Order: sequence, then structure tokens, then C-alpha cells
Amino acid sequence: KFESVTMAPPDPILGVSEAFKADSSPLKLNLGVGAYRTEELQPYVLDVVKKAEKLMLESGEFKEYLPIEGLAAFNKATAELLLGADNPVIKQGRIATVQGLSGTGSLRLGAAFIQRYLPGVKVLISSPTWGNHKNILNDSGVPWSEYRYFDPTTVGLDFSGMIEDIKNATDGSIILLHGCAHNPTGIDPTAEQWGTIADVIEEKSHLPFFDVAYQGFASGSLDNDASSVRQFVARGLELFVAQSYSKNLGLYAERIGAINAVVSSSDVANRIKSQLKRLARPMYSNPPVHGARIVANVVGDPSLFDEWRSEMQLMAGRIKGVRQSLYDALSSVDENGKDWSFILKQIGMFSFTGLNKNQSDNMTDKWHVYMTKDGRISLAGLSLAKCEYLADAIIDSYYN
Ligand code: PMP
Repeated sequence: KFESVTMAPPDPILGVSEAFKADSSPLKLNLGVGAYRTEELQPYVLDVVKKAEKLMLESGEFKEYLPIEGLAAFNKATAELLLGADNPVIKQGRIATVQGLSGTGSLRLGAAFIQRYLPGVKVLISSPTWGNHKNILNDSGVPWSEYRYFDPTTVGLDFSGMIEDIKNATDGSIILLHGCAHNPTGIDPTAEQWGTIADVIEEKSHLPFFDVAYQGFASGSLDNDASSVRQFVARGLELFVAQSYSKNLGLYAERIGAINAVVSSSDVANRIKSQLKRLARPMYSNPPVHGARIVANVVGDPSLFDEWRSEMQLMAGRIKGVRQSLYDALSSVDENGKDWSFILKQIGMFSFTGLNKNQSDNMTDKWHVYMTKDGRISLAGLSLAKCEYLADAIIDSYYN
């Protein structure tokens, strides 16, 4: 019965970790998956998470099913973190929030909604984007095409290409945007450019769909990193937002996130929420409780909330330090005097090095540096101590 099943190819991101595990070299570095490591390259559980878990254990919370839409205290907290607690949209009840299985599961629920209620509407995604966006849309049966985003000559944003492609899309398309710390490029529009993007989206009656996977983790400030979404909301635009707590609270394996729809009235919000629940029920019935309680406890307690913000700044700060140190090392090793400053301009946990597939293969085959084949490296998996080694590997791969 199963003879015709063929072998699936390894995942381009998670497959890198599998290859890393199989390498016995002491020099090996895993810069593939986006997971925060300490300077000693060890996984990190936030102190504030340990404290919240201790409180949860002591209070003896039950493990019965959550409602389909998730934990009420989490849904309230996550919407407030996204928009700001005093945002009029929240007071007016114009937001539908449903707890999801982290960023991926929340995007998947959003895509299922699009497939059912906006059938045939195309989603425009950036070129390049996080690889799983295409998988999610394909498996949801949602058509997609790409808008220009990355300019290889400047290793920067192709802003005019982006605007032109969004303008040329059929009216009423869905535009998938990275709220902050664009993955894989690390290149974000400026506040002014976000304004122009919103202008075009409004003109064309497109629907923005933000993927916010790095709020607070990119700059160290929750408010800064949500400013793109808040700017769109302040203009009165309707939109979708998927959120993830994998990176900013280090809750990768707890699978905690949310899908939000900001809409024109509380009545519409209630109806959308009811349909999101209807889509979730046959997929996974209801979401897990543990991560939701951690978020709700951290956000709900002023001293834990403060502590979380300082730990986020610490993580964001370590990555910025490594970014600077990699730039310094590249500039001093490179005898050709290439300008590597684009690395300093990128934000978030990734750096897009501009290395092509062959050069990325050389990084892995010769230098034991594991990374995705599009030239992306995760700086969160790099230590200050390894920057010089990495710079040697990059220079060797780039010029040979
Ligand atoms: N979107 C983007 C752009 C991401 O980079 C990630 C994490 N790599 C996610 C969504 C979702 O990750 P998770 O499902 O772990 O929350």
C-alpha cells in the first residue's frame, strides 16, 4: 500500500541542524536555525520564564481543555502587547484574537481563513521570504506570487521595486509583510517607507497581513518593533497579524502565538473570531495551555514584565555586539577592501551575507559552518569568540 511513497527532501532550515549534528568537527558552528544561544553557545531559558513556571506550579493550575480560541488572559495580553494597551481598537473591540500554535500555526490559521472566505485572492510575499511562508500558503490552497524586496547590488531594500509590484497587483490582494526584522534579509523599511507602503495598500484596497515573529527581540523594545503594525492600524486599515513568542520569550517548543484580525467594527470582529474557531476545531481542537499561561503571567505582573524587557534587551544587545564584531573582523581580514557595512545596517537575529549557493556550500564543506543556502546566517548562534573564524570562512568562500 505504501510502496509509492517517495522520500521527502530535507527541510531547508531544520535540515541544516540535522547535518550539523552529524558533523564531528570541533570547529563546527550552527548558524542555520534562528534560535538564541548564549555567548557559550548554549540554549537559554529566560529567568522570567522560570519564575512564571514556578508560580504556576505552586498555584496548582489545572490541565483541562482550553476553549477553542485559547486562554482569555493570554489573548488579552497578546493584543495589548501588539497594539499598545490604550489603543482605541482594543477599547472598541475591533480586534479578533485567537491563540495559535506559535507563529507558524497562527499563519496557517490565517491562511485557512483566506482560503475559505477570500477564495482565489492572491497573497503577495516578499522575494525572498522565510521559506515556510510558501509551504503554508501551498498547503492551505492559497495562490501566491512575489514582490521585489531585496536588491543584491546594494544588499539593501529594493523599495521602488516593492512599491511597483504592490501597485501592479490586482486590487484587493493580500500583502504579507514582516512586521520587523525581515527574515532572511534583516532589512526593514524605514518609518517613512512604511507610510508609503500603507498609502499604496490603501489606494489598491489590499489587505495587509503582518507576520510579527520578533517583537522586542529585534530592537530590544516591544513598542519599536510593533511600530509598523501600529502605524497601519492608526490609519484605520483592516489587517491580519500573526504573532510568535518563540524568540522574544524563548518559548520555541511551547508553540505559543496568536492570529489577530483588526477590522472595522466589534460586530465583524466577533464574526471573524467565530469562523477562526470553526477552522481551528477540526485541525487541532484547542491550543496548549502552558505557554499561554507563561505569557499571561509575565505580562500580567509588573515586575516580571520589567524583567522580561531587560532580558529581551540583553538578548538583542548580545546579537548587536556579535554583529559589530563580525563586521570588524571582516573589515580587518578582507584585503580587497570590500564595504561590509551592510551587515551593520541589518537588524534582528539574521544577517544576509550575500554569499550564493556555491559559496554557502564552501562555508559548510570546508569550514563546518552550517547555514541556509541563500546566504543567511543566524547571529544568535554566533559568539564573540567565533567571529574571527567566521570572518575567515566568509572571506575564503566569497573570493574563491
Ligand atoms: N515568521 C517568521 C518570519 C519567522 O522567522 C518565524 C520563525 N523562524 C516564524 C514566523 C514562526 O516561528 P514559530 O512557529 O516558531 O513561532
